[in-house]
Parts: sequence; structure tokens; C-alpha cells
Amino acid sequence: MTRTTGYVWHERYAWHDTGTHAGIYRAGGYVQPYRNFESPETKARFASLVEVSGLIESLTRIAPEEVSETDLLRVHTAEHIANIKALSEKDGGDGGDGFTPFGPGGYDIARLAAGGTYVAARAVMQGDVDNAYALVRPPGHHAEPEMGRGYCLFANVPVAIERLRAEGLVTRVAIVDYDVHHGNGAQKIYWEDPNTLTISIHQDRLFPVDSGMLNERGAGDGFGTNINVPLPAGSGDGAYLSVIDRVVASALRTFKPDLIVVSSGFDPSAVDPLGRMSVTSEGFRGMAERLLGLADEVCEGRIVFSHEGGYSPVHTPYCGLAVLETLTGIRTEVTDPFNVSFDDSPTRELTAWQTDLISESAELAEALGLIITDSGR
Ligand SMILES: [Zn+2]
Repeated sequence: MTRTTGYVWHERYAWHDTGTHAGIYRAGGYVQPYRNFESPETKARFASLVEVSGLIESLTRIAPEEVSETDLLRVHTAEHIANIKALSEKDGGDGGDGFTPFGPGGYDIARLAAGGTYVAARAVMQGDVDNAYALVRPPGHHAEPEMGRGYCLFANVPVAIERLRAEGLVTRVAIVDYDVHHGNGAQKIYWEDPNTLTISIHQDRLFPVDSGMLNERGAGDGFGTNINVPLPAGSGDGAYLSVIDRVVASALRTFKPDLIVVSSGFDPSAVDPLGRMSVTSEGFRGMAERLLGLADEVCEGRIVFSHEGGYSPVHTPYCGLAVLETLTGIRTEVTDPFNVSFDDSPTRELTAWQTDLISESAELAEALGLIITDSGR
């Protein structure tokens, strides 16, 4: 079955300037200048493969628009917004944690990123397209209300959701985050919100090291609607697909969102420099297939993907293309050259120690059913 898929990409996203870092660290002294891991390459090369593969011809391009300060204020503090804006108007600076550099004009590019996620989600909610992928940069899932963090200036997904809510286009939303790092931003923003289900699948205590644990479940009316799946390092396709089947599926069926937003990070990739997981492009394809099926089941297929991390410039494009092929239902003639390296790898199989953790997370997803029934939400 082919579907109409919205696609957002803007060359300006590649102009977000993260400086000459040695991966993460500032150059100087014995640290030779190099690129930041969060460089334009991963996303720009993904966009290139979308064109060269010919898939672009089957996508519905959607032009991003900058979100306004009012849109940002629904999620972020006025101080944080003013700080980014002021630095952006000079030489650039840091988003707040010392690891989130940006250059002149970064404020506008970050608003264009949040706006890219917004227009993609709006197109899905209005029925202009069946589903959508917003290939945006900078990413957003670490940004917190009062600060930028982990390469993220503003919380793209929550800013988009809150504008849709203000416009009366959506009520209940589920965020599924498979970036290898914890989705701390959405967890914090929606900690007490019973209308937003946040599920983060990540490498245990990778970043931030002090969040993303099983016992972080939300509070007040939002208790139960935050689910963390902190997988052990080394987890591959088998573990991730099992999480979708046993944790995400159960929670989505119970929660019944109007829209599913996927924080799509490709840093669980087996060759990512920042993650220690083992997911292949076929693993990402399998997750996308399952998520699409769940969207069909619970919310008439309404699903939008918003790009987050993924730091292998050579592998990310194949992982991203596999997801886009799934969204459209069109298979291009591209094959992922990395797959032969992993075909017989034991890291693709689900293991007992991964199953133990997934079972604990699955209990949280099952508990959500009781919580919702008891509270009448
Ligand atoms: Zn990440």
C-alpha cells in the first residue's frame, strides 16, 4: 500500500553552525580542531540520498515556517528564549549546558526547525498527507523549558504539539522516542500532563546520565504516562523490535492518542560514534513498520516523525531512507552497504538480559491501563 508522505527539509538546517569541535570538545591546546559530531553532514547526506534514490519524486514536500516567540513561550521560559535570541544576534554562543554551540542566526534556524515539525504535524492532522517526516536541525529532544541542552536549542516536538493544541487540532498525543539518548525534554515538559504519553527507548544512563530510569513515571495527573525503557548497551534490532511489540504497542493501545509523534534519532545505529547500540537500517525499518501499523490501529494512521540525533554521516542516510520508504510504502533500488557487516552478527538477536529489562518496562505499560481506568482519564 502506498501512502502520501509529507517531507520537510530546508538547506538552512545545514547552516546551523556547531563550530570546529573535536567531536564534542572545544579545540585548543592539544585538541586539534575538527567537526562537531552534530555537524550538517548526517542530515544533509540523508537529504541527498532521498534525492538521488528518486524517492523525493514520491514525497509531498512541505515548506517549513519559523515558529513565533509566542509558540516558544508555550514550552520555554522568556529568559531562555531571550538569551538564545541575544546570542544569535551577535556571534552565537551556547544553548545553556556548554555542549550546545550555535552560530549567528541560530535562533532563526532553531525556530525553523520547530516550525518544520509543526507544519509536518499540521499536514497530518488536517489530512493533507497520510504521514510525514520532518528532517529538521538542530534537534530538540534534550531541550528543557529553561535551557538548551545536548545539541538542542528548543523542544521541537513539544513546541509543535502545543501550537496544534492551541489551534484546537489535537488533544491526546503520544511521543515515541527511539533516539539512543534519553528524551529528557519531553519527560520534563509533560511530567504532570495526562494528555501526553511520553515513551523513551534509550541506552541506559548514556545522556543525561542521571535521567531515563524505570522509576521516572510522571507525577500528579500525569502519573503513569511517562515510560522509560533504559536498554543495556549493545542492544540491537531484536531488542528494539521487542520493545515496540511489548511496551510501545501496549501503551499506545491503552492510551489511544489522536496523533503519534516519533522522535527519530538514528544514533542507536551500530556504527554511531556516540551510542553503543547495534541497530541496523533493517531494525529502523522494522520499528517504522510496527509504528505505522499501530498508528493505523489507534489513530487512523496519523503519525509524524521529527528527526533528532544520529551522528554517523555514512550510515544515517540508509537508516533514514529505510524509514521514509516505510512511510511511503515505496521501495527504492537502494541497498544499505552496511547490512552485510551485520547479517550474521549476534548483536542483532534479542538476549536474556535485554528481555529482563524489557519485561520490567512492559509492566509499566500494562500498569498504565489500570491507572487510566481507575482515574477515569
Ligand atoms: Zn541522541
